[in-house]
Amino acid sequence: MKKVTILVPCYNEAKSLHFLYAELKALMDEVKGYNWEVLFVNDGSRDNTLEIIRDLQSRDKRICFVDLSRNFGKENAMLAGFDYATGDCVVILDADLQDPPSLIPSMLKEWEEGYDDVYAKRMNRGKESWLRKRLSLLFYTILQHSTKFEILKNVGDFRLLDRRCIDTLKELRESERYTKGMFCWIGFRKKEIVFDRNDRVAGESNWNYFSLFNLAVEGIVSFTTAPLRFATILGVIIAFASFVLMLVYLFKTILFGDEVQGFPTLITTILFLGGVQLLAIGVLGEYVARIFNETKKRPVYVIREYVCEQ
Ligand code: UDP
Ligand code: MG
Repeated sequence: MKKVTILVPCYNEAKSLHFLYAELKALMDEVKGYNWEVLFVNDGSRDNTLEIIRDLQSRDKRICFVDLSRNFGKENAMLAGFDYATGDCVVILDADLQDPPSLIPSMLKEWEEGYDDVYAKRMNRGKESWLRKRLSLLFYTILQHSTKFEILKNVGDFRLLDRRCIDTLKELRESERYTKGMFCWIGFRKKEIVFDRNDRVAGESNWNYFSLFNLAVEGIVSFTTAPLRFATILGVIIAFASFVLMLVYLFKTILFGDEVQGFPTLITTILFLGGVQLLAIGVLGEYVARIFNETKKRPVYVIREYVCEQ
């Protein structure tokens, strides 16, 4: 029998886990013909998520869990999940039931038909502010225009991946991870199914605007060097414009003489150029920081405990 791993990264999900387990249990009991593994990755939760998982595991041996030594973030927690998943395919699921487990049977059906990556596309984005929706659209547009492969819009981490994809993803071990981009980068046969994203059953989203901004920078910087090119192009344009301006002033001085004036132009030009230079250095710094972090070759996550009694 084929084995299906349901991978659930959890960070402070104590309130959601019972709802989640109830749904998963119903699903596993109902869908016959597969061996199941529910792999929880406890990403250094501060509440009693770990105790709840431990308790569930003692009652249901289909459950396994990995406990990370601290909070490493969802991206890294997912890699830990890929490393420890034993299934022939892996379904990545959020603990807060925003991704409905009821979609899993249709994913399995597509998988049986030979697709390697069955991803769920959201028709709506659940309860989200107008600003957040706009910003996320802007981010996707920038990313899409600066990479050579297709970045899927409104597609989260909720998907079924064949063992082939998992083994490939395990080889991508960069420490600053943008997994959504990796799913697109690895290729393989993809199939889309659509769903309506629910609101969280309990607890709060762990993302604020600042962490989303960081994720966006991560996404762009780890998948494209286009910002560096942009800085170069900006530099060329400004240098050219300055040269033309220089000629204009030169001829003006020769033809009409020179009275000392033009402080406003001078100061605005200096400030503008200073700003552009800082921006370019900042962009450069983003990439240098990544080189620095990757050269340290640290493990992406640290495991405290792995329990599985299958
Ligand atoms: N998560 C995690 N580590 C983190 C933050 C989040 O493992 O540092 C998990 C979280 O428990 C949930 C999933 O990632 O299962 C999605 O998180 P959340 O619901 O906060 O994100 P959103 O749905 O708002 O994108
Ligand atoms: Mg959520």
